[in-house]
Amino acid sequence: MDEFQLIDRFFSRPTLFDNVKIGIGDDGAVLKTRSDQDLVVVTDTLVEGVHFFSDISPADLGHKTLAVNLSDLAAMGAEPDWALLNLVLPAADSKWLEELSIGFFSLADRYNVTLVGGDTSYGPLNLTVTAGGWVPQGQALCRSGARNGDLIYVSGTVGDAALGLQLLSGPDGRLSDGENRVIERLRRPEPRTLLGKALRPWATAAIDLSDGLAADLAHVVVASGGLGAVIKEDCLPLSAEALELRTRKQLIPIALGGGDDYELCFCVPPEYRGEIDRLGNELRLPLTMIGKIDSTPGIWLVGESGVREEYRSGGHRHYWAD
Ligand code: ADP
Ligand code: MG
Repeated sequence: MDEFQLIDRFFSRPTLFDNVKIGIGDDGAVLKTRSDQDLVVVTDTLVEGVHFFSDISPADLGHKTLAVNLSDLAAMGAEPDWALLNLVLPAADSKWLEELSIGFFSLADRYNVTLVGGDTSYGPLNLTVTAGGWVPQGQALCRSGARNGDLIYVSGTVGDAALGLQLLSGPDGRLSDGENRVIERLRRPEPRTLLGKALRPWATAAIDLSDGLAADLAHVVVASGGLGAVIKEDCLPLSAEALELRTRKQLIPIALGGGDDYELCFCVPPEYRGEIDRLGNELRLPLTMIGKIDSTPGIWLVGESGVREEYRSGGHRHYWAD
Protein backbone atom coordinates (compact mmCIF):
# COMPACT_ATOMS: atom_id res chain seq x y z
CA MET A 1 0.00 0.00 0.00
CA ASP A 2 1.48 3.41 -0.92
CA GLU A 3 0.73 6.69 0.87
CA PHE A 4 -2.06 7.69 -1.55
CA GLN A 5 -3.88 4.39 -1.22
CA LEU A 6 -3.52 4.63 2.53
CA ILE A 7 -5.00 8.15 2.69
CA ASP A 8 -7.81 7.16 0.34
CA ARG A 9 -8.68 4.03 2.22
CA PHE A 10 -8.57 5.23 5.80
CA PHE A 11 -8.72 9.01 5.98
CA SER A 12 -10.61 10.41 2.97
CA ARG A 13 -14.29 10.82 3.69
CA PRO A 14 -16.98 12.93 2.07
CA THR A 15 -17.17 16.35 3.66
CA LEU A 16 -20.32 16.71 5.72
CA PHE A 17 -20.18 20.43 6.40
CA ASP A 18 -20.21 23.45 4.11
CA ASN A 19 -17.38 25.07 6.06
CA VAL A 20 -14.98 23.04 3.88
CA LYS A 21 -14.75 24.18 0.24
CA ILE A 22 -11.89 21.81 -0.59
CA GLY A 23 -10.88 19.01 1.76
CA ILE A 24 -8.45 16.10 1.41
CA GLY A 25 -7.01 15.52 -2.07
CA ASP A 26 -5.58 18.82 -3.26
CA ASP A 27 -2.34 20.54 -2.28
CA GLY A 28 -4.16 22.42 0.41
CA ALA A 29 -7.57 22.60 2.07
CA VAL A 30 -9.76 25.64 1.43
CA LEU A 31 -11.94 26.59 4.38
CA LYS A 32 -14.53 29.27 4.91
CA THR A 33 -13.81 31.85 7.58
CA ARG A 34 -16.30 33.37 9.99
CA SER A 35 -16.33 37.16 9.86
CA ASP A 36 -17.33 37.87 13.46
CA GLN A 37 -15.06 35.27 15.07
CA ASP A 38 -11.42 34.67 15.92
CA LEU A 39 -9.74 31.47 14.70
CA VAL A 40 -7.91 29.50 17.42
CA VAL A 41 -5.25 27.08 16.15
CA VAL A 42 -3.61 24.35 18.25
CA THR A 43 -1.21 21.48 17.60
CA ASP A 44 0.13 18.56 19.60
CA THR A 45 2.40 15.60 18.82
CA LEU A 46 2.35 12.12 20.33
CA VAL A 47 5.57 10.12 20.04
CA GLU A 48 5.88 6.37 20.63
CA GLY A 49 7.84 5.63 23.80
CA VAL A 50 7.47 9.21 25.01
CA HIS A 51 3.72 9.85 25.08
CA PHE A 52 2.38 6.32 24.68
CA PHE A 53 3.53 2.71 25.12
CA SER A 54 4.23 0.65 22.02
CA ASP A 55 1.38 -1.74 22.82
CA ILE A 56 -1.30 0.99 22.90
CA SER A 57 -4.43 0.01 20.98
CA PRO A 58 -4.60 1.90 17.67
CA ALA A 59 -8.18 2.97 18.41
CA ASP A 60 -7.06 4.55 21.70
CA LEU A 61 -4.19 6.25 19.89
CA GLY A 62 -6.52 7.65 17.23
CA HIS A 63 -8.82 8.95 19.95
CA LYS A 64 -6.05 10.44 22.06
CA THR A 65 -4.21 12.21 19.27
CA LEU A 66 -7.35 14.20 18.52
CA ALA A 67 -8.56 14.46 22.13
CA VAL A 68 -5.44 16.28 23.36
CA ASN A 69 -5.93 18.90 20.64
CA LEU A 70 -9.65 19.31 21.31
CA SER A 71 -8.69 19.76 24.95
CA ASP A 72 -6.41 22.68 24.03
CA LEU A 73 -9.22 24.24 22.00
CA ALA A 74 -11.61 23.77 24.94
CA ALA A 75 -9.13 25.51 27.24
CA MET A 76 -9.24 28.50 24.87
CA GLY A 77 -13.06 28.49 24.88
CA ALA A 78 -13.07 27.57 21.19
CA GLU A 79 -15.63 25.49 19.33
CA PRO A 80 -13.67 22.92 17.28
CA ASP A 81 -14.14 22.91 13.51
CA TRP A 82 -11.37 21.17 11.53
CA ALA A 83 -8.20 19.12 11.96
CA LEU A 84 -5.06 18.11 10.06
CA LEU A 85 -3.43 14.74 10.79
CA ASN A 86 0.28 14.12 10.20
CA LEU A 87 1.22 10.48 10.45
CA VAL A 88 4.74 9.11 10.58
CA LEU A 89 4.47 5.33 10.34
CA PRO A 90 7.11 2.58 10.47
CA ALA A 91 4.65 0.14 8.85
CA ALA A 92 1.26 0.26 7.15
CA ASP A 93 -0.80 -2.51 8.69
CA SER A 94 -4.37 -2.30 7.36
CA LYS A 95 -6.11 -3.51 10.50
CA TRP A 96 -4.05 -1.18 12.70
CA LEU A 97 -4.76 1.81 10.44
CA GLU A 98 -8.44 1.02 10.24
CA GLU A 99 -8.72 0.92 14.02
CA LEU A 100 -6.71 4.12 14.34
CA SER A 101 -9.08 5.88 11.96
CA ILE A 102 -12.14 4.53 13.82
CA GLY A 103 -10.78 5.91 17.11
CA PHE A 104 -10.04 9.25 15.47
CA PHE A 105 -13.30 9.66 13.56
CA SER A 106 -15.62 8.53 16.34
CA LEU A 107 -14.34 11.39 18.49
CA ALA A 108 -14.24 13.80 15.51
CA ASP A 109 -17.87 13.01 14.69
CA ARG A 110 -19.05 13.60 18.26
CA TYR A 111 -17.72 17.18 18.10
CA ASN A 112 -18.41 17.91 14.40
CA VAL A 113 -14.71 18.10 13.54
CA THR A 114 -13.80 17.63 9.85
CA LEU A 115 -10.47 16.11 8.86
CA VAL A 116 -9.36 18.43 6.06
CA GLY A 117 -5.84 17.16 5.34
CA GLY A 118 -2.53 16.04 6.70
CA ASP A 119 0.67 14.34 5.73
CA THR A 120 1.82 10.73 5.67
CA SER A 121 5.43 9.66 5.87
CA TYR A 122 7.57 6.62 6.61
CA GLY A 123 9.54 6.81 9.89
CA PRO A 124 9.40 6.18 13.65
CA LEU A 125 5.79 6.12 14.90
CA ASN A 126 4.47 9.56 15.81
CA LEU A 127 1.30 11.53 15.17
CA THR A 128 0.66 15.24 15.04
CA VAL A 129 -2.76 16.83 14.90
CA THR A 130 -3.29 20.51 14.15
CA ALA A 131 -6.81 21.71 14.82
CA GLY A 132 -8.79 24.91 14.39
CA GLY A 133 -11.79 26.26 16.24
CA TRP A 134 -13.74 29.46 16.66
CA VAL A 135 -14.53 31.97 19.37
CA PRO A 136 -16.51 35.20 19.09
CA GLN A 137 -14.00 38.02 18.55
CA GLY A 138 -12.00 38.87 21.65
CA GLN A 139 -13.57 36.13 23.77
CA ALA A 140 -10.82 33.49 23.78
CA LEU A 141 -10.06 32.24 27.30
CA CYS A 142 -6.41 32.89 28.13
CA ARG A 143 -4.02 31.82 30.86
CA SER A 144 -3.27 35.44 31.64
CA GLY A 145 -6.57 36.78 32.94
CA ALA A 146 -6.69 35.50 36.54
CA ARG A 147 -7.15 38.12 39.25
CA ASN A 148 -6.44 38.18 42.96
CA GLY A 149 -9.43 36.70 44.80
CA ASP A 150 -10.73 34.61 41.88
CA LEU A 151 -11.98 31.14 42.76
CA ILE A 152 -10.09 28.21 41.19
CA TYR A 153 -12.11 25.31 39.78
CA VAL A 154 -11.34 21.99 38.11
CA SER A 155 -13.70 19.84 36.07
CA GLY A 156 -14.20 16.10 36.62
CA THR A 157 -11.66 14.33 38.80
CA VAL A 158 -7.87 14.66 38.90
CA GLY A 159 -5.08 12.12 39.24
CA ASP A 160 -6.78 9.19 37.51
CA ALA A 161 -4.62 9.26 34.39
CA ALA A 162 -1.39 9.41 36.40
CA LEU A 163 -2.57 6.57 38.64
CA GLY A 164 -3.48 4.65 35.48
CA LEU A 165 0.06 5.19 34.20
CA GLN A 166 1.46 3.87 37.51
CA LEU A 167 -0.71 0.77 37.23
CA LEU A 168 0.37 0.15 33.63
CA SER A 169 4.04 0.66 34.54
CA GLY A 170 3.82 -1.78 37.48
CA PRO A 171 4.66 -5.48 37.43
CA ASP A 172 2.77 -7.48 34.81
CA GLY A 173 -0.25 -9.33 36.03
CA ARG A 174 -3.98 -9.37 35.66
CA LEU A 175 -5.58 -5.99 36.26
CA SER A 176 -8.77 -5.78 38.31
CA ASP A 177 -11.92 -4.13 36.91
CA GLY A 178 -11.30 -1.15 39.17
CA GLU A 179 -7.75 -0.78 37.90
CA ASN A 180 -8.95 -0.97 34.31
CA ARG A 181 -11.51 1.78 34.94
CA VAL A 182 -8.72 4.10 36.12
CA ILE A 183 -6.51 3.14 33.17
CA GLU A 184 -9.43 4.00 30.88
CA ARG A 185 -9.00 7.65 31.88
CA LEU A 186 -5.44 7.55 30.53
CA ARG A 187 -6.49 5.72 27.38
CA ARG A 188 -9.55 7.77 26.50
CA PRO A 189 -9.38 11.33 27.80
CA GLU A 190 -12.61 13.24 27.17
CA PRO A 191 -12.06 16.77 25.89
CA ARG A 192 -14.17 19.27 27.87
CA THR A 193 -15.35 20.98 24.70
CA LEU A 194 -18.82 22.01 25.88
CA LEU A 195 -17.48 23.29 29.17
CA GLY A 196 -14.78 25.42 27.50
CA LYS A 197 -17.33 27.12 25.29
CA ALA A 198 -19.79 27.65 28.15
CA LEU A 199 -17.10 29.24 30.35
CA ARG A 200 -16.50 32.19 27.99
CA PRO A 201 -18.73 34.64 29.87
CA TRP A 202 -17.58 33.64 33.36
CA ALA A 203 -13.94 32.52 33.43
CA THR A 204 -11.09 35.01 33.71
CA ALA A 205 -8.48 32.35 32.82
CA ALA A 206 -8.40 28.68 31.81
CA ILE A 207 -5.91 25.93 31.05
CA ASP A 208 -6.23 22.23 30.31
CA LEU A 209 -4.49 19.76 32.60
CA SER A 210 -1.82 18.01 30.57
CA ASP A 211 1.32 18.34 32.72
CA GLY A 212 -0.26 18.13 36.19
CA LEU A 213 -2.59 20.40 38.17
CA ALA A 214 0.11 22.23 40.15
CA ALA A 215 2.37 22.78 37.12
CA ASP A 216 -0.49 23.89 34.88
CA LEU A 217 -1.94 26.20 37.51
CA ALA A 218 1.55 27.67 37.92
CA HIS A 219 1.41 28.66 34.23
CA VAL A 220 -1.83 30.54 34.91
CA VAL A 221 -0.58 32.50 37.92
CA VAL A 222 2.72 33.39 36.23
CA ALA A 223 0.95 34.47 33.02
CA SER A 224 -1.50 36.49 35.09
CA GLY A 225 1.26 38.78 36.31
CA GLY A 226 3.00 36.85 39.08
CA LEU A 227 0.05 35.94 41.26
CA GLY A 228 -0.22 32.82 43.43
CA ALA A 229 -2.73 30.04 44.03
CA VAL A 230 -3.83 28.52 47.32
CA ILE A 231 -5.21 25.00 46.96
CA LYS A 232 -7.12 23.20 49.68
CA GLU A 233 -6.02 19.57 49.56
CA ASP A 234 -9.29 18.22 50.93
CA CYS A 235 -11.21 19.91 48.11
CA LEU A 236 -9.37 18.10 45.30
CA PRO A 237 -11.94 15.97 43.42
CA LEU A 238 -10.72 12.36 43.38
CA SER A 239 -12.61 9.59 41.62
CA ALA A 240 -14.40 6.80 43.49
CA GLU A 241 -12.40 4.36 41.33
CA ALA A 242 -9.06 5.82 42.44
CA LEU A 243 -10.20 5.91 46.07
CA GLU A 244 -10.91 2.18 45.91
CA LEU A 245 -7.26 1.57 45.00
CA ARG A 246 -5.41 4.19 47.08
CA THR A 247 -6.02 6.31 50.15
CA ARG A 248 -6.83 9.99 49.79
CA LYS A 249 -3.43 10.77 51.29
CA GLN A 250 -1.66 8.67 48.65
CA LEU A 251 -3.68 10.23 45.85
CA ILE A 252 -3.09 13.92 46.68
CA PRO A 253 0.49 14.05 45.31
CA ILE A 254 -0.63 12.09 42.24
CA ALA A 255 -3.52 14.51 41.68
CA LEU A 256 -1.22 17.55 42.00
CA GLY A 257 1.82 16.26 40.12
CA GLY A 258 0.46 13.73 37.62
CA GLY A 259 -0.38 14.72 34.06
CA ASP A 260 -2.68 13.59 31.26
CA ASP A 261 -6.04 14.26 32.95
CA TYR A 262 -7.21 16.71 30.25
CA GLU A 263 -9.66 18.32 32.63
CA LEU A 264 -10.03 22.10 32.61
CA CYS A 265 -8.73 24.27 35.42
CA PHE A 266 -10.26 27.76 35.41
CA CYS A 267 -10.59 30.91 37.48
CA VAL A 268 -13.85 32.70 38.19
CA PRO A 269 -14.65 35.87 40.16
CA PRO A 270 -16.49 34.91 43.40
CA GLU A 271 -19.73 36.55 42.27
CA TYR A 272 -20.12 33.95 39.51
CA ARG A 273 -20.06 30.99 41.85
CA GLY A 274 -23.77 30.30 41.29
CA GLU A 275 -23.30 30.36 37.51
CA ILE A 276 -20.61 27.69 37.75
CA ASP A 277 -22.87 25.51 39.94
CA ARG A 278 -25.63 25.88 37.36
CA LEU A 279 -23.23 25.04 34.54
CA GLY A 280 -21.99 21.89 36.29
CA ASN A 281 -25.58 20.68 36.68
CA GLU A 282 -26.45 21.53 33.10
CA LEU A 283 -23.40 19.69 31.71
CA ARG A 284 -23.66 16.90 34.30
CA LEU A 285 -19.99 17.40 35.01
CA PRO A 286 -18.61 17.99 38.50
CA LEU A 287 -17.03 21.46 38.70
CA THR A 288 -15.19 21.69 41.99
CA MET A 289 -13.80 24.77 43.69
CA ILE A 290 -10.33 23.83 44.89
CA GLY A 291 -8.92 27.14 46.08
CA LYS A 292 -8.30 30.81 45.41
CA ILE A 293 -5.99 33.09 43.50
CA ASP A 294 -3.78 35.01 45.91
CA SER A 295 -1.30 37.87 45.68
CA THR A 296 1.65 35.85 47.09
CA PRO A 297 3.40 34.24 44.09
CA GLY A 298 3.66 30.44 43.98
CA ILE A 299 1.46 27.39 44.39
CA TRP A 300 0.44 26.94 48.02
CA LEU A 301 -1.21 23.94 49.63
CA VAL A 302 -3.41 23.92 52.69
CA GLY A 303 -3.50 20.42 54.15
CA GLU A 304 -5.00 18.85 57.27
CA SER A 305 -3.03 21.09 59.61
CA GLY A 306 -4.48 24.20 58.04
CA VAL A 307 -0.96 25.56 57.49
CA ARG A 308 0.03 26.89 54.07
CA GLU A 309 3.00 25.15 52.48
CA GLU A 310 4.56 25.86 49.14
CA TYR A 311 4.22 23.09 46.54
CA ARG A 312 7.65 22.24 45.16
CA SER A 313 7.87 19.07 43.07
CA GLY A 314 6.97 20.01 39.51
CA GLY A 315 4.84 18.38 36.81
CA HIS A 316 5.90 16.81 33.55
CA ARG A 317 8.45 18.53 31.31
CA HIS A 318 10.67 17.36 28.44
CA TYR A 319 14.42 17.80 29.02
CA TRP A 320 17.39 17.75 26.65
CA ALA A 321 21.04 17.50 27.67
CA ASP A 322 22.83 20.84 27.08
P1 ADP B 1 1.60 17.00 -1.21
O1 ADP B 1 2.58 16.00 -1.71
O2 ADP B 1 1.09 17.95 -2.26
O3 ADP B 1 2.00 17.69 0.03
P2 ADP B 1 0.24 14.78 -0.11
O4 ADP B 1 0.47 13.74 -1.11
O5 ADP B 1 1.09 14.79 1.11
O6 ADP B 1 0.28 16.18 -0.81
O7 ADP B 1 -1.27 14.72 0.34
C1 ADP B 1 -2.32 14.59 -0.57
C2 ADP B 1 -3.62 14.95 0.11
O8 ADP B 1 -3.87 14.03 1.15
C3 ADP B 1 -3.60 16.34 0.75
O9 ADP B 1 -4.91 16.86 0.65
C4 ADP B 1 -3.28 16.05 2.18
O10 ADP B 1 -3.78 17.07 3.04
C5 ADP B 1 -3.98 14.71 2.40
N1 ADP B 1 -3.36 13.86 3.44
C6 ADP B 1 -2.12 13.35 3.47
N2 ADP B 1 -1.91 12.60 4.56
C7 ADP B 1 -3.05 12.65 5.27
C8 ADP B 1 -3.48 12.08 6.50
N3 ADP B 1 -2.69 11.33 7.27
N4 ADP B 1 -4.74 12.35 6.91
C9 ADP B 1 -5.55 13.15 6.17
N5 ADP B 1 -5.22 13.69 5.00
C10 ADP B 1 -3.98 13.45 4.55
MG1 MG C 1 1.51 19.52 -3.07
